[in-house]
Amino acid sequence: MDKRGSSILSQSLWKEALSIFPGGVNSPVRAAVKPYPFYVKEGKGAYVITEDNKKYIDFVLGYGPLILGHAYPYVKKNIFNQIDKGWLFGIPSKVEIELAKKISSHMNSIEKIRFVNSGTEATMNAIRLARGFTKREKILKFDGNYHGAHDYALVDAGSAAMEFGIPNSLGIPEQVLRTVNVCTYNDLTCVENILKKEDIAAIIVEPIMGNMGVIPPQKDFLSGLRELTKTYGSLLIFDEVITGFRVSISGAQGYYGIEPDITTLGKIIGGGFPIGAIGGKRQIMDFLTPSGKVFNAGTFNANPISMIAGLSTIEVIEKENVIHKTSQSAKEIADELDKIGTPHVVNRVENMLQIFFGVSSVKNAEDARKANKELYNKFQLKLLDVGIFFPPSQFETVFTSLAHDENVMQEAIEGIKKAKSEFN
Ligand SMILES: *Cc1c(COP(=O)(O)O)cnc(C)c1O
Repeated sequence: MDKRGSSILSQSLWKEALSIFPGGVNSPVRAAVKPYPFYVKEGKGAYVITEDNKKYIDFVLGYGPLILGHAYPYVKKNIFNQIDKGWLFGIPSKVEIELAKKISSHMNSIEKIRFVNSGTEATMNAIRLARGFTKREKILKFDGNYHGAHDYALVDAGSAAMEFGIPNSLGIPEQVLRTVNVCTYNDLTCVENILKKEDIAAIIVEPIMGNMGVIPPQKDFLSGLRELTKTYGSLLIFDEVITGFRVSISGAQGYYGIEPDITTLGKIIGGGFPIGAIGGKRQIMDFLTPSGKVFNAGTFNANPISMIAGLSTIEVIEKENVIHKTSQSAKEIADELDKIGTPHVVNRVENMLQIFFGVSSVKNAEDARKANKELYNKFQLKLLDVGIFFPPSQFETVFTSLAHDENVMQEAIEGIKKAKSEFN
């Protein structure tokens, strides 16, 4: 395998892609890889192998879902078994109950659940559910939090739009935009002022920000949100699409000991297949159709492939001490990055981390926007040169997987050292 050689095949595929896809891609962040994206032929453990036969240690991992790494054998075996028996029924199958019970057994706040097909669908339906339940229309979100690509919360959203400097609102009706209030993350005063003034159906929050790089909640922020929502009769939605089954087996809610009213999940619970889920207490969840009147439906909801892939993944997380191991690897990466000579700060919570250059602390989206993202992009390219794939955007997260074992980590640390020496 050659790390530095030509990438002539990827280059010609990119040329074709530009002529057939808007911006050359099917999700914007993929276009952030410079000078053009490499095309992946195969994912194996901690590595991706490109059409040009280059091999990278993958710290992006599908932007979060692949906590076991690529093509984990046990998950693969169970998926193949299911495929053998058919892959879409539109009729209930046993495995959906197994995955739901598994999730509910780890998250106290989840008594009932609805499976959908993406994190986007999960938050969209969670907000609709909160509106139906409270009979209120307005919501409150936080600057730089990303809740997927639907209209309801696409205001000051993190992730790809931030990378490309695109305001998210074109195409969203003014009436919808007016239902969204935005506060600075970690600012409870702003939250209380809005709750006093407006009838808020729900506060939706990433309990750990993962779409502006990584930004942890400050002590008392989440408990403050819990108290304030109780006082003012609003629901609290934890968007755990990234953090669910990642920072702990019971998500950020278990990690910090705060119970939301509604939880949205995605990414890891599908084991790398499309998935989303809305979970919560019985009396709220029963507002969903067909037991209630808040509409949700989906041809692919609870499709058996996503169900079995997610169930198998969580079984491995339970058995193999995955969160501890991945967090150890993430700590090694964070510690090595932290020794870089350029002024910076590294934010990490367990197995998710990011480095910000030119700033000494990042506590909210405004701080993250002040970081030197050109320098980050330059460093990301240096890492690619030594065979390490970090997110192509300052506003995404570095993840580790179970496949990042001792050997891979040794190679990764050596690579980072080399990249740093050429960078300083
Ligand atoms: C990725 C993400 C989403 C959207 O999930 P998709 O499956 O991409 O639609 C929503 N919320 C958070 C916190 C996410 O990280």
